[in-house]
Amino acid sequence: MVKRYWDEMNFPQPTDRELKENAKATAKKAAKKGKELHPVVITGRQITKSWWGNAWCSNLERYADFDNRLPRGKRYVKTGAVIDLEITKGKILARVQGTRKTPYKVEIRISPLSEQQIQTITDKCGKKVDNLSKLVSGDFPEELKEVFIGHGGLFPSPKEISFNCSCPDWALMCKHVAAVLYGVGARLDEDPLLFFTLRGIDTNRFVDVVIANRTEMMLANVNKPSKRILSDTSLSDIFGVI
Ligand SMILES: [Zn+2]
Repeated sequence: MVKRYWDEMNFPQPTDRELKENAKATAKKAAKKGKELHPVVITGRQITKSWWGNAWCSNLERYADFDNRLPRGKRYVKTGAVIDLEITKGKILARVQGTRKTPYKVEIRISPLSEQQIQTITDKCGKKVDNLSKLVSGDFPEELKEVFIGHGGLFPSPKEISFNCSCPDWALMCKHVAAVLYGVGARLDEDPLLFFTLRGIDTNRFVDVVIANRTEMMLANVNKPSKRILSDTSLSDIFGVI
């Protein structure tokens, strides 16, 4: 990564107060127009708390072409500069407040996983029924770490991600893009299933696998002496995950 001393001189950084004021003005304007914004709100000192959220934030370093954009992005997201953020399949759309009044438009594209990659991830997650049940309920067991950060996992490799921002910065990952990526971390922290949305994996597929596995287990028990297991188990126990 490169550091240019004149970079700091050419672009004075807006203060937290300026960012907050601009964000407030934009929110007011949007409200007047009846437009709904989805801002990223960081309440604690840390942007993320979960292991997967933290792993996402450390993973961002792989995408940065200038190392000073990351701490700036971190400050921006904490200040509330990411005034709108939406995560859909393969795409993150956001608006980030900066020095000027009009927020910058950020678009991040992430390639969807191939069918084969999806199958591998589903298999890895589905090795234990417990894993999948937890996953479906949004509590990702740490033993699934490899599914996220491993090769061909849910975290995109630098080749699988591209950035676009309307600001004049020449860096591929400008501070606005960095702020959005940290904002994505905060969203994923709350709802890890968004990882699957982002990579184009239908989470219903996991629910199906959990149900199939459970039913299989129940049926396997039918032939054992304790036949009561099926009759005593209500359907909601079998399909407890949905
Ligand atoms: Zn930018």
